[in-house]
Amino acid sequence: MTVRYSKPRSGDMQRTTITTTPPKPPPSLPCPSCRADLRYRHSYVSGMPGQRGQWDAFFCESCGPFEYYQRSQQLRRVDGGIADPGRP
Ligand SMILES: [Zn+2]
Repeated sequence: MTVRYSKPRSGDMQRTTITTTPPKPPPSLPCPSCRADLRYRHSYVSGMPGQRGQWDAFFCESCGPFEYYQRSQQLRRVDGGIADPGRP
């Protein structure tokens, strides 16, 4: 599944693709808080020239949404539970 959407940001359009088949396979990670297996949801792939990047959205049943950044290899908890701007 691949869905494209455009997010306007101060005049210019930034293209980000949401996909479940990203270029880099999402890692399997335990939740840093409760050690349960995080569930993979989907990935965001930035298509901006020179700024190619990928980050993956995960979800813990107990702790909520997380994002994993491929570039920095960092797992970050998403505050507020709103991690899905592209979700219908
Ligand atoms: Zn957890």
